[in-house]
Amino acid sequence: MTKSERLFQEALTCIPGGVNSPVRAFGSVGAVPRFMEKAQGAYMTDVDGRTYVDFVGSWGPMILGHNHPRVREAVLKACEKGLSFGAATEAEVDMARLICQMVPSIEMVRMVNSGTEAVMSAVRAARGFTGRDKIIKFAGCYHGHSDAMLVKAGSGVMTAGVPDSAGVPGGCSQDTLTAIYNDMQSVEALFEAWKGEIGAVILEPVGANMGVVPPAEGFLSRLRKLCTDNGALLIFDEVITGFRLGRDGAQGYYGVTPDLTTFGKIIGGGMPVGAYGGRRDVMELIAPTGPVYQAGTLSGNPVAMAAGMAQLGLLQETEDFYEKLNEKSRWFFDRIQELIEKSGRGYQLNRVGSLGCLFFTTEPVVDYASAKTSDTKEFAAYFRHMLEAGIYLAPSQFEAMFLSAAMTEEDLERTLTAMERFFDR
Ligand SMILES: *Cc1c(COP(=O)(O)O)cnc(C)c1O
Repeated sequence: MTKSERLFQEALTCIPGGVNSPVRAFGSVGAVPRFMEKAQGAYMTDVDGRTYVDFVGSWGPMILGHNHPRVREAVLKACEKGLSFGAATEAEVDMARLICQMVPSIEMVRMVNSGTEAVMSAVRAARGFTGRDKIIKFAGCYHGHSDAMLVKAGSGVMTAGVPDSAGVPGGCSQDTLTAIYNDMQSVEALFEAWKGEIGAVILEPVGANMGVVPPAEGFLSRLRKLCTDNGALLIFDEVITGFRLGRDGAQGYYGVTPDLTTFGKIIGGGMPVGAYGGRRDVMELIAPTGPVYQAGTLSGNPVAMAAGMAQLGLLQETEDFYEKLNEKSRWFFDRIQELIEKSGRGYQLNRVGSLGCLFFTTEPVVDYASAKTSDTKEFAAYFRHMLEAGIYLAPSQFEAMFLSAAMTEEDLERTLTAMERFFDR
């Protein structure tokens, strides 16, 4: 028995499912989670001493690779001064200024501790601002695990095949309307049916929790117009795409400006951080200036801010950072496309910037329903094959591959070789 297997057995006795987040479970791919001990650059090493090229990157934050020296040093330096004050600090001002600088639509920003919190708070702000309760989300988009958002959610909810969560009162989800990603008609129909009652439309500007699903040409700008015409706010959940597709996230990449944006993952450099921000007239409604209450004991924590600032600072100042990362990613996914074509299997590949997903289906993947046509048994076999070859992928068909700046051509070649062997078997 490996040490991971031993730890997992013990974990099962004292942690639900043995994991602190369901997406870490390996049940759907028929394996036992590898318990990790350390990570550096492009690699993670498990407790049995096996090293993997890591395409999860802590689910997105590790865009610079693991344990970047500048981020680590900033954290250590902050620790020397104290771990938490529960009072205002200069680091929070620096962080807010940097976010406003990098993302032009952000006029004011509030720091929180997770993406879940960021979304929950942004939706509350939108409802407070518009005085309307109904919100529209899209099937397959994941917006964290707050009650109102666990309706047709992606990520782990999709993998587990649980459409909704138990324990969510009907009253909490009755105002959440669900539309179909990339289908304007489905959104227009909801606006028609609930005239004057829709406060906000929230979406991942690139779907990255049902695999990777890019927005169709014009989809985001048409949503923008529909919201504006109907007095609803447009919220981009950029918890994954923020600071990944570019300095100004998906909104810069596609040139569409939301009213509010949520951040997480990359923004914390590996520490538990989220943020929401946007239009000044909306954000000024947040307590203590306005009547929309939102608070947090550890929000803007100095150690977390140090990590986030160091990482965002590097992303901001490194010339051609995104051009290089996206180019490397294009090269890698083009090579995967060639392997698919050579195999004659017709599998689908979606990619935006440094996010990509290989779907085990022959149907183009444009929304939740088409993503669901994937052969998850085949994915499970692929996942186990890659794991044995030292390539660490997310243990679900419905998650992205995250490339990092630390990955070398050699790492990617190794990955391609392992994929080719799988297709050839
Ligand atoms: C991960 C994620 C969240 C939730 O963030 P947590 O930090 O896990 O709470 C919300 N929205 C999107 C798009 C995400 O990918």
